Amino acid sequence: MKWVEGVCGECGRIIRRRSPAPVVVTCDCHRYCPLCGAEMTPYTPDLNPHTYRREDDPGWDPLSLASKGEASVETLYVCGNHAPPHYSDQGPVEVLLR
Ligand SMILES: [Zn+2]
Ligand SMILES: [Zn+2]
Repeated sequence: MKWVEGVCGECGRIIRRRSPAPVVVTCDCHRYCPLCGAEMTPYTPDLNPHTYRREDDPGWDPLSLASKGEASVETLYVCGNHAPPHYSDQGPVEVLLR
């Protein structure tokens, strides 16, 4: 058994495993908040649009400023340590080790 290693393209961390052949692993950096490093909470989108986005209501966002710090259907994880919370759409990063 030899060591294989690769660098995560997202966080730059070097991942090493013992493996006889090149192997693809997933880096878990997508689960950690890029702002504070805390482990984020998996975000479950509420598919009822009226609970988080009311585009049909002209009073919802009269100045069209609601583009940041807002959950979307792409959101996978959320860190509640910030106001507004940090929403992440980063999925698992595959890293080839060889
Ligand atoms: Zn990573
Ligand atoms: Zn955070």
